Amino acid sequence: MRLKEITDYIESRYSLDLAYDWDNVGLVIGAEDARVERVLTCLDVDRAAIQRAVSSNADLIISHHPLIFKGIKKINSRSQKGRDILEIMRNGINVYCMHTNFDIATDGLNDHICKLLKLKSTSLIGITHEQSLCKIAVYVPKGYEDTVRDALSSAGAGHIGNYDSCTFGIDGTGTFRPLEGSKPFIGAKNSLEKVEEVKIETICTMSNVKAAVESVMRVHPYEEPAYDIYELVNKGEAQGIGRVGALENKMTLSELAREIKTILKLDFVKVCGDLGMPVENVAVVSGSGAEFICDAAKAGAQVLITGDVKYHQAQEALESGIAIIDAGHHGTEKHFSVLMKEFLEAGKSELSIEAFSGKDVFECL
Ligand SMILES: [Zn+2]
Repeated sequence: MRLKEITDYIESRYSLDLAYDWDNVGLVIGAEDARVERVLTCLDVDRAAIQRAVSSNADLIISHHPLIFKGIKKINSRSQKGRDILEIMRNGINVYCMHTNFDIATDGLNDHICKLLKLKSTSLIGITHEQSLCKIAVYVPKGYEDTVRDALSSAGAGHIGNYDSCTFGIDGTGTFRPLEGSKPFIGAKNSLEKVEEVKIETICTMSNVKAAVESVMRVHPYEEPAYDIYELVNKGEAQGIGRVGALENKMTLSELAREIKTILKLDFVKVCGDLGMPVENVAVVSGSGAEFICDAAKAGAQVLITGDVKYHQAQEALESGIAIIDAGHHGTEKHFSVLMKEFLEAGKSELSIEAFSGKDVFECL
């Protein structure tokens, strides 16, 4: 299978556009037409993952943490990073990274933890993106309304929540005079025409408006269809890195911490807060999520489950009235390799895929 087939499949679900600007996601090393049979999924492209990929003849490594984060000026044997990259390339291995786009995406890492916790009524914290919307108005001669409506809907316009094909029609009279060089569908040259028309209005995302207009142009009977596009103040679907939701059953902070240990398969978690306090509303930010303490508290969470929380950040959390369960950076993200293996197996069953578990950089003695 060509590498591009795999990256197209991944990006159809986990768009690169979802990632933060500072991130470095997508194909980091490789040729899109490279042949891929064996894939290794992992959290980090560290020494252990590279050695495993080489020994198992993997053609592609898919990691959560980017192999290259910031710009590097030299790739040579004088640095460990340089030696790693040289080894990867010498062995014909491609590297693809999906980091904050996988945290933010629906069915990414944060949703995975929410599912394990069976959180209800989840909403977003740390909004990163809201879809810009527009209104498309198309003027159609009577008899062609449904054709144009179908064209708009098939291009994705008119989608509101759990409804599609949402349009509104207003009857009216259109006027026009065909000039020299025209080939009018209705009327004659140099003669003013009055035609019964319908103005069809529908909502559309700005990213989809070009496709919607092109779809209308293909079916509209007029030589010069008239249409308007208005930018709207209301926003569409939002995306964000964290989640907040309610537990099925209230439990104490201590019970929740033990639950997290079990479902994330961890040896330990760190807890900051009153262990006996009842907890119902829970926020989740995988990886390093301490910067979302205030957002989580504002969203009504009584506890934030995340990793990499510093001493003073935990103190501030207590002052903000929110408890912390620090399940570790590795602990909240190590499931990436299995999740990606399952995702690839579901759509690209021809591939041989290994989920490399790797090790936390920390050990607890
Ligand atoms: Zn991370």
